[in-house]
Amino acid sequence: MEGIAIRLQDLRKSFGETTAVAGVDLEIRDGEFFSMLGPSGSGKTTVLRLIAGFETPTAGGIELAGQEVTGLAPFERDVHTVFQDYALFPHMTVEQNVAYGLKIRKVPKAERLVRARKALAEVRLEGFGARRPAQLSGGQRQRVALARALVGRPRVLLLDEPLGALDLKLREQMQVELKELQREVGITFVFVTHDQQEALTMSDRIAVFDQGRIQQVGTPAEIYERPATPFVASFVGTSNLIEGESAQRVVGAPGVYSIRPEKIRVLKESAESDEPEHATATGTVAEVVYLGDTTRFLVDLDAGGRLTALQQNLETSAEDVAAYRGTRVRLQWHHRHTVRVPDTR
Ligand code: ATP
Repeated sequence: MEGIAIRLQDLRKSFGETTAVAGVDLEIRDGEFFSMLGPSGSGKTTVLRLIAGFETPTAGGIELAGQEVTGLAPFERDVHTVFQDYALFPHMTVEQNVAYGLKIRKVPKAERLVRARKALAEVRLEGFGARRPAQLSGGQRQRVALARALVGRPRVLLLDEPLGALDLKLREQMQVELKELQREVGITFVFVTHDQQEALTMSDRIAVFDQGRIQQVGTPAEIYERPATPFVASFVGTSNLIEGESAQRVVGAPGVYSIRPEKIRVLKESAESDEPEHATATGTVAEVVYLGDTTRFLVDLDAGGRLTALQQNLETSAEDVAAYRGTRVRLQWHHRHTVRVPDTR
């Protein structure tokens, strides 16, 4: 059985009147790429800082590798934090930055050098050791921060929105590299982000936070395909809920249902719909958004409510797509894509 790297038990943290973390139970496994995903202010950074030891919990416990660490100082915990602003020392070279933590721990100089170079190689920065942070690009600085974290081989690496400062292209590239790096080194990564796409791309498992609580923990596919609450359904992926009266008319039973936009086919209203496996709903196209590879249709249903449908532009052009605006359509999707969402509101 895999070991547990981190165990949080009924963890709570208040700052005066503000409850940042309102009772979190969580187990993160050894070697996992684990993301904490949630909107701004949902408490994910506070949970990370509690694990690191920069904050003291108001109540609850934290175990690292089976050891209770709640009362320990940050340096007494086998974790390392990578911050969004990298926190590199500007007056030191890249190599000195990376080796700094080893120097503090009195590792002999020759060994420091070997290990710093190895860490720089792991983040593909061989040959950059003599530069100063100011002489690097944003992406390279990010890698130095990672090398500095890896050099001491912590059991757990905590990453707080580490890609937040990068432009989109570089960010996407670093997502792939970071995931590869994690697989190579086998260290548990705990990654904080508010970007659902990023969490889905990189994680083995995700915890979705809202208002200081975890709404759901699961693999990206579980979170996306089987959202446990309306909040998860709307925060991860495009919000596409039908509820109340319209649910009754479209799906046949009252409740809250989620249907992912890419599962819905947009047909002309007159199109035959005799496929028994499929749900169907008619409506009027309120808006079409041409996105290059796909088109997004916003459709006001006759039964009430609005659904978003995403279609591949296989043979359609931007002109074809624009002609749909204001027209009558039939939406169709397989019944298995209608996901009932437990209504916890
Ligand atoms: P973001 O993505 O914006 O960083 P987050 O999900 O990480 O958000 P936290 O930073 O954990 O959220 O904040 C949770 C709540 O706790 C917020 O309401 C925040 O204002 C509050 N909070 C966090 N740190 C402190 C502090 N040191 N003093 C007072 N309130 C704080």
